[in-house]
Amino acid sequence: MKGKVAVMVEPLKLEYQQYDLPSPEKEALLLKIIRTNVCGSELHIWHGDHPVKKDGILGHEMVGKIEKMGEGVTKDHAGRPIRVGDRVAVTYFQVCRRCNSCVNGEFALCENTYEYFNKQPEESPHFHGAFSTHYYVHPNQFFYKVPDNIPDSVAASANCAISQVLYGIDKAQLKVNETIVIQGAGGLGLYAAAIAKESGAKVIIIDGVEARLKQAKKFGADYLINLHDYDTVEKRSALIKEITNGSGADVGMEVSGVPDAFSEGIHHIRPGGRYISVGNIIIGAFTAFDPGLLTRKSITIYPVNRYQPWFLNKALEFLSSNINKYPFAELVDAHFGFEEIEAALNKSYRREVTRASIVMD
Ligand SMILES: [Zn+2]
Ligand SMILES: [Zn+2]
Repeated sequence: MKGKVAVMVEPLKLEYQQYDLPSPEKEALLLKIIRTNVCGSELHIWHGDHPVKKDGILGHEMVGKIEKMGEGVTKDHAGRPIRVGDRVAVTYFQVCRRCNSCVNGEFALCENTYEYFNKQPEESPHFHGAFSTHYYVHPNQFFYKVPDNIPDSVAASANCAISQVLYGIDKAQLKVNETIVIQGAGGLGLYAAAIAKESGAKVIIIDGVEARLKQAKKFGADYLINLHDYDTVEKRSALIKEITNGSGADVGMEVSGVPDAFSEGIHHIRPGGRYISVGNIIIGAFTAFDPGLLTRKSITIYPVNRYQPWFLNKALEFLSSNINKYPFAELVDAHFGFEEIEAALNKSYRREVTRASIVMD
């Protein structure tokens, strides 16, 4: 039996290749991919802008069905029994449990995290990425059974955006009745709004696109700030102070990926508040920053890169409990077949579609 992989041979060039399906080693799994979504970071890779991934199989957000189980696999990483045919979500990275970060319990920062994701498809077990008919889950990857009430399109995003913002909000310990200001109403911002709302917080969200702000309302945002109506940092900050009885938000969260947004955030947060930095992931993109203001306000910054693997399970539980409360399925607005991945990437890059999903047959 053979499976197919979509390989980026060089930036902007995709090729389909076939390989024999591997038999999973001890503690490993072979999945048949059901759905895979195009993430923003894929677009950086597609255009050659990723720091480590320069070619190979793309794709990391996905949900799959167990096709084969290696010796010793009987339960998922939350202890639930699993069998062939079950839908599972997998951390797209591995935790080696031996590097300095892992030894210190910082699995989110594992220094060998992309060991397999970076391998070339010729190398066994071939299926190193999600833009494939199959996916090989290594013993160092965490996987969780997907609750039945989560549709495929939503489950496919669980292992990236949702887990990451959930981890960030947990790190900053957002509390009941606190106020959070979220900068950016894209996928990350909308998930963050819903999570913050369910934590009992008041949610302020900033974006420049009216349609996104409208959607943010459906995801629990209490206050919407349009960058065009409030067109300076000072105006936005004054409005946030007004909403928060004069002091600023307890927590800020940057999910726009714009370096200047990071500098802006500390203006909106109260003295002693916390700031979660998620969106800016490109190294070497600079912004003017006011360190004196940071010191005087004594804001604690929580950077979030990937997540502790068990947050994937928490993300699935969150989705399962709130599936009818927020329109998660609406976040995917375009569907493509496996042979149309190039179009999915290009249309996503040109922002003709917001969230593209590759549906496998
Ligand atoms: Zn992603
Ligand atoms: Zn490690």
